[in-house]
Amino acid sequence: MAAQQVQHASQGNHFDVLIVGAGISGVGSAYHLQQQCPQKSYVILEMKDTFGGTWETHKYPGVRSDSDLYTFGYRFKPWVGAPIASAEEILKYMGEVIEENDIGSHIRYGHRINDCSWSSDDNRWTVRATRSSDGSEQVFTCNFLWMCQGYYDHEKPYVPDWKGMDDYEGLFIHAQVWDPNIDYTGKKVLVIGSGATAATVIPAFAETAEHVTMLQRSPTYFFCSENRNELADQLREIGIDEPTVHRVVRAQINHDHDVMQKRCITEPDVVFEELKALVRQYAGEDFEFEPHFTPKYRPWQQRLAFCPEGDVFKAAADGKLTVYTDTLDTFTKTGVRTSSGDEIEADIIVAATGFNLSVMGDIPFSVDGKALDWHDTVNYRGMMFTGVPNLLWVFGYFRASWTLRVDMLGDFVCNLLNHMDELGATRVDVALRDEDADMPILPWIEEENFNPNYLMRDLDKLPQRGDKPEWRHNQDYWSEREEIPLIDLDGEEFLYDGKRAKRSSKAA
Ligand SMILES: Cc1cc2nc3c(=O)[nH]c(=O)nc-3n(C[C@H](O)[C@H](O)[C@H](O)COP(=O)(O)OP(=O)(O)OC[C@H]3O[C@@H](n4cnc5c(N)ncnc54)[C@H](O)[C@@H]3O)c2cc1C
Repeated sequence: MAAQQVQHASQGNHFDVLIVGAGISGVGSAYHLQQQCPQKSYVILEMKDTFGGTWETHKYPGVRSDSDLYTFGYRFKPWVGAPIASAEEILKYMGEVIEENDIGSHIRYGHRINDCSWSSDDNRWTVRATRSSDGSEQVFTCNFLWMCQGYYDHEKPYVPDWKGMDDYEGLFIHAQVWDPNIDYTGKKVLVIGSGATAATVIPAFAETAEHVTMLQRSPTYFFCSENRNELADQLREIGIDEPTVHRVVRAQINHDHDVMQKRCITEPDVVFEELKALVRQYAGEDFEFEPHFTPKYRPWQQRLAFCPEGDVFKAAADGKLTVYTDTLDTFTKTGVRTSSGDEIEADIIVAATGFNLSVMGDIPFSVDGKALDWHDTVNYRGMMFTGVPNLLWVFGYFRASWTLRVDMLGDFVCNLLNHMDELGATRVDVALRDEDADMPILPWIEEENFNPNYLMRDLDKLPQRGDKPEWRHNQDYWSEREEIPLIDLDGEEFLYDGKRAKRSSKAA
């Protein structure tokens, strides 16, 4: 540390708002802030050397969205391509948003945040970051912290502690750290895992590999469809302008998803039959679903893996893909052995086993000198936390496009900041109300509702929740889009400068 230069907080490093991360959430949030609070100064700190977050990190073959870009794109920037987009196309879209709105001049790349501390003496956050270009510590202060750092560790993917990994003589790699220089032409490739990543890499590998095998612990639901949106095509054909196409197609997709989500709960078996019918369009009438494509959970309890043009199933039907549904017993010299004793040989083994959860970027936080444990907090609608002033967390949707919530929370934060200005307040907290005194405090994730493994593994790192709408994170875009815009900022759950808002939500 001795050789490092420490730049202390100065006027130049104080901002009204500090946004953490230049992924799709951070860039969208900056846009809303500029539009709705043009008088606020802001900076985005990003540890990478460029923007994009998820879409910059992942470089495995075929990397693409699994949501359509009409809803994964921002509401303010029309999407004009095919609904499912490659990482490259998403980065181009984000680059245009940055360029068109002069967001770039606000981003400090190569700044890894190491520490955030709140002081109630001056109602400010102090944010310490290491600048990669010279290793110096940079100190920023801000009035409001807008956390857009995503939800997983970008550097260390989740690899289970499998037996015998050191014995394996081929190439083992996790998809998250895939190196595009790896040549898999003519090779035997084993993909461990199912879900969206596996669904993406398998067809890409199948194009030139000798053979692809998927070893999955349990099957996943897939939604097969052409990569086009009929309504968008029709609207364009009759000369409708792109902003209108974007707005109408978003509305249509959101409506269809809402209907689908409800049907997944009320008639999961019928939905599964329909998903199977879509698969058969690509893989033939005789395609066998048992045992490898019959999941044990309800459709939509985990993200439904999109499969454009049924490509995974085509690979299976063409004999290019073999599936094992089993657990992995041990790695061997030449591949793996399953718990049932099957030997799978592979030149390359690709783990598509998911993420390590990273809560708030694993950044140590403190409030008035006391280390903050997020598990001691109760979340307010999955965005603010009891005991943590002037901070908002962007955690998007899993069942709907993540970005829908970025736009929605963008409006919320800007309303909140403008409201604080009207009140002349410099601090906002959320706090349980008298009526919440006996509310049960529960694990953040409602397992019945949504239960991806990487969240279930680390529940003790996450905030907690109550059982009332204000204190739940319901992951339901369709109810939140009605509720969040109507939040009464003078409701009892908000404290400004330590005082309850003047009127209660009931009196409002
Ligand atoms: C392969 C893949 C495909 C996906 N496809 C979809 C999809 O189709 N639809 C969908 O809705 N969701 C999808 N998701 C979920 C996806 O992660 C989100 O939709 C979205 O891209 C997350 O954006 P974000 O900006 O919130 O976070 P990220 O993309 O994770 O970006 C966070 C940024 O914060 C930076 N950061 C983190 N910690 C620090 C720190 N300490 N200091 C400074 N900077 C920091 C990171 O470097 C990163 O750039 C996908 C996820 C993956 C991994």
